[in-house]
Amino acid sequence: MAIRDFIFTAQPSRVVFAKGSLSQLAEEVKALGARRALVLCTPQQRAQAQQASDLLGEMSAGIFDGAQMHVPIEVARVAREHAKAVGADCAVAIGGGSTIGLGKAIAMESALPIIAIPTTYAGSEMTPIYGITEAGAKKTGRDIRVLPKTVLYDPNLSVGLPLGMSVVSGMNAIAHAAEGLYAKDGNPVMSLMAEEGIRALALGLKGIAQNASDMDARSECLYGTWLCGSVLGHVGMSLHHKLCHVLGGSFNLPHAETHTIILPHALAYNASAAPQAMQRIAKALGAPHAAEGAFDLAKQLGAPMALREIGMKEADLEQACKISMSNAYWNPRPLEEVALMGLLRNAWAGDRPNSLSI
Ligand code: NAD
Repeated sequence: MAIRDFIFTAQPSRVVFAKGSLSQLAEEVKALGARRALVLCTPQQRAQAQQASDLLGEMSAGIFDGAQMHVPIEVARVAREHAKAVGADCAVAIGGGSTIGLGKAIAMESALPIIAIPTTYAGSEMTPIYGITEAGAKKTGRDIRVLPKTVLYDPNLSVGLPLGMSVVSGMNAIAHAAEGLYAKDGNPVMSLMAEEGIRALALGLKGIAQNASDMDARSECLYGTWLCGSVLGHVGMSLHHKLCHVLGGSFNLPHAETHTIILPHALAYNASAAPQAMQRIAKALGAPHAAEGAFDLAKQLGAPMALREIGMKEADLEQACKISMSNAYWNPRPLEEVALMGLLRNAWAGDRPNSLSI
């Protein structure tokens, strides 16, 4: 037993979770007091957006299919103008973190309520965190106005997510929960959700690796996504998210793949400083150690395991280390340049971490 010491501020959002919940979209729009919903998507997900728009019938204000990775400010501006021009009083973001990110960028300026319908496992729908890219730099922040008011989780919509993308986006969500378990501002509710979220995603991902259309496994993954996304929305992140932000922002590495590769190494780095969190992560993964368990899970699922495989140059590792050391996030173990460089080298090579030796 230990003395408990925490603050927990719950963030309000309504979650509707069911196979086929997309069919409830029109009622959910009405429940928000809205009458004209603009549907947002990427060009690749136009068909799913059309399905949503058809379900809305007269309440559809049409489709904006210009969502792009990293939410370029130019796209956000065009989408905001478009929402105004068509008289939208609500936006429905159907897609992954990029589309939901566009919804958030609209909400930030207009306070338009957002209904998010996630089709990946990234978890953005449960957070008040936004990211907008301007002049090549991605600015991120927290603003309660961008938190989607309603989230519809429908496992039917992620069945078409290819296995490779499912795995890396699921590992991205696991990373939110893992860091939530040792967050400086963590709390018992979020720790329960984090542990359960990791367990559900590890189980669900193994299920879809066997059969990508297994609806129980798809549902388990989405359930884990809700839990892990909630953790990201409520507590602060540490070294792992900092490193991924640097590698994505300054070296243009793909988001979810980078999370997948870095997570085991960040956990190994923090193993000795956060032993209780590591025990809970390991238990949720069904493995003896958290770092090795995360590595083995990703490898078993066929994910890329090395930064060199996803475009990182060895010569850039030192620069990545320097940027990560500057303006560092809080981390359970202080950032030490030599050890951090070791972490990056291991992640670059794709070596299995050894949390007992770091
Ligand atoms: P994504 O939204 O960039 O989607 C990648 C591609 O997959 C897109 O072309 C998309 O249309 C397609 N896709 C999505 N769902 C599909 C499906 N079911 N079937 C077929 N194709 C599908 O990928 P992501 O990993 O969900 O999101 C990554 C972005 O989200 C990053 O920019 C990241 O920074 C952001 N993010 C933000 C938060 C937050 O809290 N703000 C949290 C996690 C991620």
